[in-house]
Amino acid sequence: MLEVHDLSVAYGVIEALKGISFAVEEGEIVSLIGANGAGKSTTLRTISGLLRAKGGRVAYKGKEIGKLPPYKIVELGVTQVPEGRRVFTRMSVLENLEMGAYTCRERGGVKAGLKRVFARFPRLAERKNQLAGTLSGGEQQMLAMGRALMSRPEILLLDEPSMGLAPLLVKEVFSIIKEINADGTTILLVEQNAHMALSISGRAYVLQTGEIILSGSASELMQHPEVKKAYLGD
Ligand code: ATP
Repeated sequence: MLEVHDLSVAYGVIEALKGISFAVEEGEIVSLIGANGAGKSTTLRTISGLLRAKGGRVAYKGKEIGKLPPYKIVELGVTQVPEGRRVFTRMSVLENLEMGAYTCRERGGVKAGLKRVFARFPRLAERKNQLAGTLSGGEQQMLAMGRALMSRPEILLLDEPSMGLAPLLVKEVFSIIKEINADGTTILLVEQNAHMALSISGRAYVLQTGEIILSGSASELMQHPEVKKAYLGD
Protein backbone atom coordinates (compact mmCIF):
# COMPACT_ATOMS: atom_id res chain seq x y z
CA MET A 1 0.00 0.00 0.00
CA LEU A 2 2.71 2.45 1.08
CA GLU A 3 6.21 1.94 -0.19
CA VAL A 4 9.24 3.97 0.77
CA HIS A 5 12.32 3.25 -1.29
CA ASP A 6 15.86 4.47 -0.60
CA LEU A 7 14.55 7.71 0.86
CA SER A 8 17.04 10.37 1.82
CA VAL A 9 16.18 13.71 3.41
CA ALA A 10 18.53 16.45 4.56
CA TYR A 11 18.16 19.67 6.51
CA GLY A 12 20.97 21.67 4.94
CA VAL A 13 24.08 19.66 5.66
CA ILE A 14 22.38 17.44 8.25
CA GLU A 15 21.43 14.12 6.69
CA ALA A 16 18.34 13.11 8.63
CA LEU A 17 17.47 10.05 6.49
CA LYS A 18 20.21 8.16 4.70
CA GLY A 19 18.35 6.00 2.21
CA ILE A 20 15.66 4.11 4.13
CA SER A 21 13.29 1.56 2.62
CA PHE A 22 10.19 0.03 4.12
CA ALA A 23 6.65 -0.91 3.22
CA VAL A 24 3.22 -1.02 4.81
CA GLU A 25 0.58 -3.42 3.51
CA GLU A 26 -3.13 -2.72 3.65
CA GLY A 27 -4.64 -3.56 7.04
CA GLU A 28 -1.36 -3.65 8.96
CA ILE A 29 -0.14 -1.77 12.00
CA VAL A 30 3.55 -1.08 11.36
CA SER A 31 5.83 0.80 13.76
CA LEU A 32 9.00 2.74 13.27
CA ILE A 33 10.78 2.80 16.56
CA GLY A 34 13.90 4.73 17.44
CA ALA A 35 15.48 7.15 19.87
CA ASN A 36 15.36 10.95 19.83
CA GLY A 37 16.62 12.35 16.56
CA ALA A 38 16.60 8.99 14.73
CA GLY A 39 14.56 10.50 11.90
CA LYS A 40 11.08 9.22 12.73
CA SER A 41 9.23 12.51 12.38
CA THR A 42 11.23 13.35 9.28
CA THR A 43 10.02 10.11 7.71
CA LEU A 44 6.34 10.85 8.40
CA ARG A 45 6.63 14.49 7.36
CA THR A 46 8.19 13.45 4.07
CA ILE A 47 5.45 10.90 3.34
CA SER A 48 2.86 13.63 4.09
CA GLY A 49 4.50 16.01 1.64
CA LEU A 50 5.56 18.51 4.30
CA LEU A 51 9.23 17.88 3.50
CA ARG A 52 10.84 17.13 0.16
CA ALA A 53 13.19 14.20 -0.23
CA LYS A 54 16.68 14.59 -1.60
CA GLY A 55 16.53 11.14 -3.14
CA GLY A 56 14.46 7.99 -3.32
CA ARG A 57 10.73 7.64 -3.65
CA VAL A 58 7.45 7.35 -1.80
CA ALA A 59 4.68 5.43 -3.53
CA TYR A 60 1.10 5.04 -2.40
CA LYS A 61 -0.90 2.28 -4.08
CA GLY A 62 1.73 2.18 -6.81
CA LYS A 63 1.60 5.92 -7.51
CA GLU A 64 4.55 8.18 -6.78
CA ILE A 65 3.41 10.84 -4.27
CA GLY A 66 6.76 12.43 -3.40
CA LYS A 67 6.09 15.59 -5.39
CA LEU A 68 2.44 16.15 -4.48
CA PRO A 69 1.37 18.93 -2.12
CA PRO A 70 0.17 17.77 1.32
CA TYR A 71 -3.56 18.34 0.67
CA LYS A 72 -3.43 16.08 -2.40
CA ILE A 73 -1.81 13.37 -0.32
CA VAL A 74 -4.63 13.71 2.23
CA GLU A 75 -7.15 13.45 -0.62
CA LEU A 76 -5.56 10.17 -1.68
CA GLY A 77 -6.20 8.77 1.81
CA VAL A 78 -2.94 9.39 3.68
CA THR A 79 -3.37 11.53 6.82
CA GLN A 80 -0.93 12.40 9.56
CA VAL A 81 -1.50 13.04 13.25
CA PRO A 82 1.44 15.33 14.03
CA GLU A 83 3.83 15.08 16.94
CA GLY A 84 2.65 17.20 19.87
CA ARG A 85 -0.97 17.04 18.56
CA ARG A 86 -0.92 20.57 17.12
CA VAL A 87 -4.59 21.18 17.79
CA PHE A 88 -5.88 24.67 17.05
CA THR A 89 -5.91 25.87 20.65
CA ARG A 90 -8.19 28.88 20.21
CA MET A 91 -10.81 26.95 18.32
CA SER A 92 -13.44 24.67 19.81
CA VAL A 93 -13.30 20.89 19.61
CA LEU A 94 -16.02 20.99 16.96
CA GLU A 95 -14.18 23.57 14.85
CA ASN A 96 -10.96 21.53 15.07
CA LEU A 97 -12.81 18.49 13.77
CA GLU A 98 -14.39 20.50 10.96
CA MET A 99 -10.89 21.64 9.94
CA GLY A 100 -9.95 17.98 9.57
CA ALA A 101 -12.63 17.62 6.92
CA TYR A 102 -11.33 20.41 4.68
CA THR A 103 -10.76 18.00 1.79
CA CYS A 104 -14.30 16.58 2.10
CA ARG A 105 -16.46 17.29 -0.92
CA GLU A 106 -19.36 14.94 -0.29
CA ARG A 107 -22.67 16.45 0.74
CA GLY A 108 -23.33 15.60 4.36
CA GLY A 109 -19.77 14.28 4.63
CA VAL A 110 -18.81 16.54 7.52
CA LYS A 111 -21.90 15.63 9.51
CA ALA A 112 -21.36 11.92 8.93
CA GLY A 113 -17.69 12.34 9.89
CA LEU A 114 -18.60 14.07 13.15
CA LYS A 115 -21.03 11.30 13.97
CA ARG A 116 -18.33 8.68 13.41
CA VAL A 117 -15.69 10.56 15.42
CA PHE A 118 -18.04 11.28 18.33
CA ALA A 119 -19.01 7.61 18.45
CA ARG A 120 -15.31 6.67 18.67
CA PHE A 121 -14.45 9.46 21.16
CA PRO A 122 -17.50 10.15 23.35
CA ARG A 123 -15.39 12.50 25.47
CA LEU A 124 -14.99 14.81 22.48
CA ALA A 125 -18.75 14.88 22.01
CA GLU A 126 -19.22 15.91 25.63
CA ARG A 127 -16.70 18.72 25.13
CA LYS A 128 -17.48 19.81 21.63
CA ASN A 129 -17.85 23.49 22.52
CA GLN A 130 -14.77 23.61 24.75
CA LEU A 131 -11.67 25.43 23.48
CA ALA A 132 -9.13 22.84 22.36
CA GLY A 133 -6.34 24.60 24.26
CA THR A 134 -8.11 23.86 27.55
CA LEU A 135 -8.31 20.10 26.96
CA SER A 136 -5.99 17.76 28.86
CA GLY A 137 -3.04 16.20 27.03
CA GLY A 138 -4.90 12.92 26.53
CA GLU A 139 -8.00 14.69 25.26
CA GLN A 140 -5.88 16.74 22.86
CA GLN A 141 -4.35 13.52 21.49
CA MET A 142 -7.85 12.15 20.95
CA LEU A 143 -8.86 15.37 19.26
CA ALA A 144 -5.83 15.21 16.96
CA MET A 145 -6.73 11.64 16.04
CA GLY A 146 -10.38 12.55 15.58
CA ARG A 147 -9.42 15.49 13.39
CA ALA A 148 -7.33 13.17 11.20
CA LEU A 149 -10.18 10.66 10.96
CA MET A 150 -12.47 13.40 9.61
CA SER A 151 -10.63 13.07 6.27
CA ARG A 152 -11.56 9.34 6.15
CA PRO A 153 -7.97 8.17 5.77
CA GLU A 154 -7.08 4.77 4.39
CA ILE A 155 -3.75 5.00 6.19
CA LEU A 156 -3.14 6.99 9.34
CA LEU A 157 0.38 8.19 10.15
CA LEU A 158 0.75 8.66 13.89
CA ASP A 159 3.71 10.60 15.24
CA GLU A 160 4.47 9.72 18.83
CA PRO A 161 0.93 9.49 20.22
CA SER A 162 2.20 8.52 23.70
CA MET A 163 4.25 11.68 24.15
CA GLY A 164 3.70 13.36 27.51
CA LEU A 165 0.82 11.12 28.56
CA ALA A 166 0.42 9.27 31.84
CA PRO A 167 0.72 5.46 31.53
CA LEU A 168 -3.01 4.85 31.87
CA LEU A 169 -3.79 7.30 29.08
CA VAL A 170 -1.07 5.81 26.89
CA LYS A 171 -2.86 2.48 27.24
CA GLU A 172 -6.18 4.06 26.32
CA VAL A 173 -4.74 5.82 23.27
CA PHE A 174 -3.10 2.60 22.04
CA SER A 175 -6.27 0.60 22.48
CA ILE A 176 -8.09 3.23 20.40
CA ILE A 177 -5.41 2.91 17.71
CA LYS A 178 -6.07 -0.84 17.65
CA GLU A 179 -9.80 -0.23 17.27
CA ILE A 180 -9.26 2.24 14.44
CA ASN A 181 -7.16 -0.42 12.71
CA ALA A 182 -9.80 -3.12 13.35
CA ASP A 183 -12.29 -0.83 11.62
CA GLY A 184 -10.19 -1.01 8.46
CA THR A 185 -7.65 1.83 8.68
CA THR A 186 -4.02 0.91 8.06
CA ILE A 187 -1.60 2.40 10.61
CA LEU A 188 1.99 3.59 10.41
CA LEU A 189 3.08 4.45 13.91
CA VAL A 190 6.21 6.29 14.99
CA GLU A 191 7.17 5.87 18.64
CA GLN A 192 9.89 6.22 21.22
CA ASN A 193 7.77 4.03 23.48
CA ALA A 194 8.91 0.83 21.79
CA HIS A 195 7.17 -1.37 24.31
CA MET A 196 3.70 0.00 23.59
CA ALA A 197 4.33 0.29 19.86
CA LEU A 198 5.48 -3.32 19.51
CA SER A 199 2.58 -4.55 21.64
CA ILE A 200 0.02 -3.43 19.06
CA SER A 201 2.03 -3.81 15.83
CA GLY A 202 2.33 -6.72 13.47
CA ARG A 203 5.72 -5.61 12.16
CA ALA A 204 8.25 -2.93 12.98
CA TYR A 205 11.41 -1.23 11.78
CA VAL A 206 14.14 0.16 14.01
CA LEU A 207 15.49 3.51 12.92
CA GLN A 208 18.87 4.71 14.17
CA THR A 209 20.48 7.96 13.05
CA GLY A 210 18.70 7.97 9.71
CA GLU A 211 19.11 4.29 8.89
CA ILE A 212 16.95 1.21 9.36
CA ILE A 213 19.10 -1.18 11.35
CA LEU A 214 16.56 -3.92 12.09
CA SER A 215 13.16 -5.06 10.93
CA GLY A 216 10.82 -7.96 11.50
CA SER A 217 7.66 -9.07 13.18
CA ALA A 218 6.90 -7.23 16.41
CA SER A 219 7.18 -10.47 18.39
CA GLU A 220 10.62 -11.21 16.88
CA LEU A 221 11.85 -7.71 17.62
CA MET A 222 10.59 -7.85 21.20
CA GLN A 223 12.92 -10.82 21.72
CA HIS A 224 15.87 -9.30 19.88
CA PRO A 225 18.77 -8.66 22.30
CA GLU A 226 19.65 -5.30 20.77
CA VAL A 227 16.04 -4.08 20.88
CA LYS A 228 15.64 -5.35 24.43
CA LYS A 229 18.78 -3.56 25.55
CA ALA A 230 18.44 -0.27 23.69
CA TYR A 231 14.68 0.24 23.41
CA LEU A 232 12.85 -1.90 25.93
CA GLY A 233 15.00 -1.06 28.94
CA ASP A 234 15.71 -4.72 29.74
P1 ATP B 1 12.12 12.92 18.09
O1 ATP B 1 11.52 11.70 18.65
O2 ATP B 1 13.04 13.60 19.05
O3 ATP B 1 11.16 13.84 17.43
P2 ATP B 1 12.83 11.88 15.49
O4 ATP B 1 13.28 10.47 15.42
O5 ATP B 1 11.45 12.17 15.13
O6 ATP B 1 13.13 12.40 16.97
P3 ATP B 1 13.58 13.88 13.61
O7 ATP B 1 12.77 14.94 14.25
O8 ATP B 1 13.08 13.28 12.36
O9 ATP B 1 13.85 12.71 14.65
O10 ATP B 1 15.06 14.43 13.39
C1 ATP B 1 16.07 13.74 12.68
C2 ATP B 1 17.35 14.58 12.62
O11 ATP B 1 17.11 15.76 11.83
C3 ATP B 1 17.83 15.11 13.96
O12 ATP B 1 19.24 15.09 13.95
C4 ATP B 1 17.30 16.54 14.02
O13 ATP B 1 18.15 17.36 14.80
C5 ATP B 1 17.35 16.93 12.55
N1 ATP B 1 16.31 17.92 12.25
C6 ATP B 1 14.98 17.76 12.38
N2 ATP B 1 14.30 18.85 11.99
C7 ATP B 1 15.24 19.77 11.60
C8 ATP B 1 15.20 21.09 11.10
N3 ATP B 1 14.02 21.71 10.88
N4 ATP B 1 16.37 21.69 10.82
C9 ATP B 1 17.56 21.07 11.02
N5 ATP B 1 17.65 19.81 11.48
C10 ATP B 1 16.53 19.16 11.78
